[in-house]
Amino acid sequence: MIQFLDQNFSQLNHFLTKDTYSRIFILVDENTHENCLPILLGNLETSTEIEILEIEAGEEMKNIQTAIHLWEILTEMHADRKALIVNLGGGVVTDMGGFVAATYKRGISFINVPTTLLAMCDASIGGKTGIDLMHYKNMVGTFSLPEHIFVYPSFLSTLPSDQLLSGFAEMLKHGLIADKNHWNSLTQISDLDAENIIPHVKRSMEIKQNVVDKDFHEENIRKTLNFGHTIGHSLESLFLEDNTPILHGEAVALGMICETYLSKLENLISEEQSETIIKGIRSKFSTIDISKYSNEAIVAILVNDKKNSNSNINFSLLHCIGAAVFNHQCQTENIVKSLNYYRNLCNN
Ligand code: NAD
Ligand code: ZN
Repeated sequence: MIQFLDQNFSQLNHFLTKDTYSRIFILVDENTHENCLPILLGNLETSTEIEILEIEAGEEMKNIQTAIHLWEILTEMHADRKALIVNLGGGVVTDMGGFVAATYKRGISFINVPTTLLAMCDASIGGKTGIDLMHYKNMVGTFSLPEHIFVYPSFLSTLPSDQLLSGFAEMLKHGLIADKNHWNSLTQISDLDAENIIPHVKRSMEIKQNVVDKDFHEENIRKTLNFGHTIGHSLESLFLEDNTPILHGEAVALGMICETYLSKLENLISEEQSETIIKGIRSKFSTIDISKYSNEAIVAILVNDKKNSNSNINFSLLHCIGAAVFNHQCQTENIVKSLNYYRNLCNN
């Protein structure tokens, strides 16, 4: 299902000739319109009519208004049930385009052509589509798989470096939960640029795909992908509420440090491994000042998190580099200790 594209995009062209689609709608945002669409169109060989759908860039656009706008355009353009949506973009485009495709006329086909590192290694895989509602992320959506994922890593050459770093956090996570060799290769990269990261994209995608294949609906092992995301999401929300958003990857890096330390406090991982991991993450991500948020405020969000039941706080934690546990319930006392540990790192 995942295919890497050659210079001529021949795998994609082959796919488009095999399946007969009535029309092709390429969804882009303003940045992928400028940087990626010319490359895609320059290589596409198809007799099927192509239309371009453009949305503004940014997470703020991942909402119901944009979805309505896209449903309306598809309707006005008489898109039928044999139309294909091609999501050419980052996670916002793949989540939004997947959702619109999954719901328009009760579902039309879509493919993902991810253009950010985060979308390649994470968002394009696994069939979660959706939009944000009020200030809650991904509140409304579906589990709907793309027909195919076509990856052209060279798209990363125009991606801003902070966005590259954001996706890199998810790659580190994949190594930590499933593959020590992957973690080792990633932490050995000295300059985090597209050229040095591209050789590792394939392995990271495989890890996510393998996990999703075992547990599509996130009833068990898929939860391990939430490592770093419980505390990470909580801080991400607090910074967002203050209109000082941090990158998702920065939040995940912060969350992975706290949750690694928490794994040690819960006697799941050795002190030595814990230190190695935290050192590895810190060599790529600088610590973030979280002093304006109290432990109570952070924990309050964790308790409300949709992943928790009966007010127990569920975590996905680590046994060692390459092996994770899920549904591990932690006491607030240890969560607070892990947050205080992070606060101390910022002071040193
Ligand atoms: P994004 O889609 O907003 O892209 C980040 C920025 O990079 C945007 O400004 C975009 O226009 C720009 N951009 C994209 N490709 C580019 C390129 N090749 N060159 C230059 N600029 C480019 O953000 P993202 O980080 O890719 O994705 C975040 C979204 O993904 C969030 O909404 C998150 O909820 C979602 N997500 C979904 C899943 C899932 O399983 N469905 C998993 C993780 C994240
Ligand atoms: Zn994430």
